[in-house]
Amino acid sequence: MSDEALTRALADGGVIRMAGLLSLLMPASTGVGFGVKGLDGRYRLANREMERLLCRGASRLAGRSESDLLPAHLLALLARCDQRIIDGAPAAYEEVELPVGGRIRQCLWLKLPVLGADQELQSIASIIHQVAPSPEIPAMQQTLDRLRQANQELQQTVVELEQVAGTDKLTGAWNRRRIEECVRSEMDRLNRYEQPLSLLVVDIDHFKAINDQHGHGAGDQVLQAVTSLLQSRLRGTDALARWGGEEFVVVCPNTGRSTAALLAERLRGQIANADFPLIGQLTVSIGAAECSPGDTWEEWFQRADEALYRAKTGGRNQVQIAPEKTPTPDTQEYVVANFVQLVWHSAYECGNELVDRGHRQLFADANELLSAILCEREASRVDRIVDTLTADVLQHFADEEAVILAAGYPGAAEHVVLHRQLVTQARRLLDDYRAGKQGVGDVFQFLAYDVVTRHMLGADRAFFPYLRAHGAKPAGNREAPSA
Ligand code: GH3
Ligand code: MG
Ligand code: MG
Repeated sequence: MSDEALTRALADGGVIRMAGLLSLLMPASTGVGFGVKGLDGRYRLANREMERLLCRGASRLAGRSESDLLPAHLLALLARCDQRIIDGAPAAYEEVELPVGGRIRQCLWLKLPVLGADQELQSIASIIHQVAPSPEIPAMQQTLDRLRQANQELQQTVVELEQVAGTDKLTGAWNRRRIEECVRSEMDRLNRYEQPLSLLVVDIDHFKAINDQHGHGAGDQVLQAVTSLLQSRLRGTDALARWGGEEFVVVCPNTGRSTAALLAERLRGQIANADFPLIGQLTVSIGAAECSPGDTWEEWFQRADEALYRAKTGGRNQVQIAPEKTPTPDTQEYVVANFVQLVWHSAYECGNELVDRGHRQLFADANELLSAILCEREASRVDRIVDTLTADVLQHFADEEAVILAAGYPGAAEHVVLHRQLVTQARRLLDDYRAGKQGVGDVFQFLAYDVVTRHMLGADRAFFPYLRAHGAKPAGNREAPSA
């Protein structure tokens, strides 16, 4: 093979820079054999000296493996070298005897890893150098040092090029840098109170075993298949990236915690039910977290990652949701109220973003009212909170009615009647309160307890299973998932 053809072959193998460097380092005249084999054991390319040493010049090395050419006792030695490289050694070598020019020659056979951008082993490079009797060891050492350096530079370049491009070479998904840029600007731009933002971290279960059982190539194909499956099931606004290895992240704009949970659960189920080429079944574990006000990207990611860890330790093939970040109690008011606060649980969610947001808002309003009463705030402030709570109740009733009607919930009409009764009662009570005929305690009891807590955890729960079973269809366009 001419040097030019060798360079071209290396370029086709995706290691162009290394090819350039090696063609300088390894002219045939140095008597150093150089070749690269894939993880299937077949040589992809070799220089002329390598072919002379292994095939005795009779044929091409490309496409053939060591076991086609060498005696069993050598193969055992070389397999040990390969194993050390596979186990992560930066280099491995053996002294071997090879017949060269009709005589047995002592040779040093050095193997080096060729790593891909993900730092995973891609191929194994071999360098064969005759050791004795010529005193060329220092030159060999120099060659090796330069090679190692070339190899490092190569890896660095591949990584940098890929980062610049913004996509992961194997799967075509966004890479880490690209998604981080996107997330930071999204976090800056969004008012997170108004527009929730959620993150899923998806990790393939027991992926190492897939590689071990079916080979690295099969593992790669699985990564590609999982990427396209995820990609095809996400909504247009969601962004998917390969975070590293067998881990992916999905950033979901305008998605609250409960919707993220539904989305994650849907993805998990679809992957568990898919049939993957070569390997059949596989599962993923998913951690999800909603971005909390004041979260940095690192904090937010960490909460999703902790949820993922719980999914793994909890048995894998499952979704875990990070708890909402508890606000720091920084005022006396908060501490007092904390004792008797209405505590929100994820079990109170029905999965419809609009309804859940409404319920959470009412919880927050009721807590604020309670806190104002307990801290004996001035009457005007308490009145303002009563007004807010009342307005939010009315808004929420209207939203909820739209959602259950749109979903075709059979008990919708009855539920609307319940709302009307509560509203009539509230109006009467509030009039009495403003006329001084009712204490604020009764107002609180009615609004926070009868309306918010009892109605929400009682009558409302009748439609929760219906909404969950019917995909928690959104009202209007607020959370439209693409099919
Ligand atoms: P767990 O269920 O705990 O996540 O176990 P796991 O085996 O999936 O996780 P672990 O982190 O132990 O192993 C991940 C493996 O993924 C190890 C690594 O060799 C492999 N891997 C990483 N990147 C690639 C790649 O690009 N291609 C292939 N084929 N394998 C990869
Ligand atoms: Mg894994
Ligand atoms: Mg992992």
